[in-house]
Amino acid sequence: MTTTLSGEMTPAVTTLTDHPTAEGTPAMAFPFVPVAGGNNIISSGFRTPGRPDHNGIDFAAPQGEPIYAVEDGVVVRSGPASGFGNWIVLDHQATLHVDTVYGHMRAADLLVSQGMFVRAGQQIARVGNEGDSTGPHLHFEVWNSPGRFGGAAIDPQPLLVGSANPPTGTIDPAAGTFYGVDISNHQGNFDIAATKREGFSFMAAKCTEGDFFKDSFWPRNRDLMQQHFPGMFCGYHFARNGDPITAQVANLKAHLGDPNIPVMLDYEDPNTPGSGANMRQLVDAINAAGMRVCAIYLPRWYWQGHMGSPPLNDLPPLWNSHYVTASGFASVIYPGKGFAGWKDYTPGAPVEILQFSDKARVAGKLVDVNAYEGTPDELRTLFGGAPGKLSVDDCVLDFWLQLLGPTGAGWPQLNNRSVVDALAEIGMHHGVPGMTPPPAGAAAASLPATTADRARDVFDQIRGPDGTGWNQLGNRSLVDAIAAIGHQLGVPGY
Ligand SMILES: [Zn+2]
Repeated sequence: MTTTLSGEMTPAVTTLTDHPTAEGTPAMAFPFVPVAGGNNIISSGFRTPGRPDHNGIDFAAPQGEPIYAVEDGVVVRSGPASGFGNWIVLDHQATLHVDTVYGHMRAADLLVSQGMFVRAGQQIARVGNEGDSTGPHLHFEVWNSPGRFGGAAIDPQPLLVGSANPPTGTIDPAAGTFYGVDISNHQGNFDIAATKREGFSFMAAKCTEGDFFKDSFWPRNRDLMQQHFPGMFCGYHFARNGDPITAQVANLKAHLGDPNIPVMLDYEDPNTPGSGANMRQLVDAINAAGMRVCAIYLPRWYWQGHMGSPPLNDLPPLWNSHYVTASGFASVIYPGKGFAGWKDYTPGAPVEILQFSDKARVAGKLVDVNAYEGTPDELRTLFGGAPGKLSVDDCVLDFWLQLLGPTGAGWPQLNNRSVVDALAEIGMHHGVPGMTPPPAGAAAASLPATTADRARDVFDQIRGPDGTGWNQLGNRSLVDAIAAIGHQLGVPGY
């Protein structure tokens, strides 16, 4: 890599001090080091005598090694930066009052974009050698408050004392907190694409109210949610308890547009007290009309104060509202699973979605935000009522098992061979040049622990070790081996 730029990045506005770590260095450490091996692979320190302008530390690591967020944060930059090739800047002001900077990555290796929330230990990029760099490494900086833009670079090493190695591979995406937004005509042409980009997982938008009101933004919001939140959105009907149930359901059905779109019943009419019986009749009537109630938005205070705390058995999942006082990014102000809003209404009636603020910053506006605790598949099931799509992890696992057999020891119906070895055996049987299967009973392959390693195995199985074909297939890839066998058998076109 050659570049005309000199130095890595120098602070734009700050003056260097003689004692950069004396002030503004938080007492806490990052939960994780940014690359596996962390403190043991630092190849260059902070402002060393030979490199007084070096505003960070370097971790020597192979090209492509995962880079992890050292702490929960918000992505404030992800893209090109002079001297860095590409960089990522994370804002951790909410917790540790610092920003972190990661440099020298290829553009294709930036895995997060501006505005996204990232979790401590989440993979955000891969190690590169871009910009002013003479070998693959991660350049890592820490900037004190207010952060990279306006703060000063400080020595990262005190913040990495005792930091754990990042979790293997990426952070387990299977379970955790997922955030959603609910909107109505009050938000106007709300930017739903930006909501997705900012890392939200689900959405709800108002469809109808009572027996008359139709939200004019619903068709637009519905189509955009379908595009950006497929299988993870719903329309909501605000119940007017004085309106006839049949007329409310007819109004909803006429405006929903597609009866397959799940409906959230918003049950909180302040003017007419509700009742358990009335709410159940509405749920039943919506379902009987060929639609499906996926959840009931029923604030605890309304259930208690306006309904007399009726039983909640055998109803769709409950969606509570209980607000924090802070305003800001949803993931920053979210109070966690211990928050009172998550308390079961009654035993067996848990809160499944919690609206925890009506003043969260999303897509440049202040709106309602919600949290879901669980897995993406569970959340998809809540909205979709259908089996969720396989996760990437599950798909990769299945690819691996398909190629290597249900226990890694081949398929019984393939003479206990893997797909590669079965083709080699078939090829040899038919005299395809170069095909020589290994002896039967070869050792079983062991399933790697992580999705990333399984994916690499899948690549090798299809392309051959290092992508150069399999010895037993005559140095062919899987596809070329099939072609060679087809050719040998005289199949037209092979
Ligand atoms: Zn550096």
